[in-house]
Amino acid sequence: MSVAEEIRALFSDLREVLELESETGIREFRVSERHPAWAGEKTKAVPGPEQGPSSLEELRALIGDCKRCRLHRGRRHIVFGEGDPHARLVFIGEGPGRQEDRTGKPFVGHAGELLTRIIAAMGLRRDQVYICNVVKCRPPGNRDPEPDEAAACLPFLEAQVRLIQPEVICVLGSVAGRNLLSKDFRIRRDRGKWQTYCGIPVMPTYHPAYLQRNPAAKRETWQDVQAVMGRLGLEVNRNGRKMRG
Ligand code: SF4
Repeated sequence: MSVAEEIRALFSDLREVLELESETGIREFRVSERHPAWAGEKTKAVPGPEQGPSSLEELRALIGDCKRCRLHRGRRHIVFGEGDPHARLVFIGEGPGRQEDRTGKPFVGHAGELLTRIIAAMGLRRDQVYICNVVKCRPPGNRDPEPDEAAACLPFLEAQVRLIQPEVICVLGSVAGRNLLSKDFRIRRDRGKWQTYCGIPVMPTYHPAYLQRNPAAKRETWQDVQAVMGRLGLEVNRNGRKMRG
């Protein structure tokens, strides 16, 4: 691709992102010194309920057969997210993997099974929470989403959060933390500390895929999960393992 073609493609991508911001009801954002995807909460403006789509179904229809970033090229399915549209708790990971791309559902592979067990340990079912990702199409080879890909997709996530209005968000892993909380986010340092995203309390913890590779970290994740439960008023049984909502 020539330089002129690259510049044309860049402006085309930028126009699509701005149109998407407008379509989803976002009327204001500030550009960070580095990149909007790393800009943190201060750069984001969550529109009021009178703006943008009024339901998750409307938002999904708006996304359509999205080609707003290059991730559309290799995907089989857009993985929009699933769960209770009025969930008190939302889990946000980084992006779909192979199984998720095949099925169109978030967190259905091995890591998803572990997330399901974590949710069950909280005394909840998957259909009582909402699960989604920073990007809705699978990055090739399961690489991390690039900042411009995350920036293109984040308006959808912000709209989902605005529509669901959860009481707590649990951010899973460093990639989601960097895109949603701070460009300097480091999971080992910052997990377990309350932050906010779109004005909603956020508990960052390890991604289930990391826990599978590093089982010792489950203990810290359990502490984080208990903090979430405390915020939601869910009961932690005395043995610290079996819990009810
Ligand atoms: S990742 Fe998001 S912005 Fe990119 S093509 Fe998929 S739905 Fe569209």
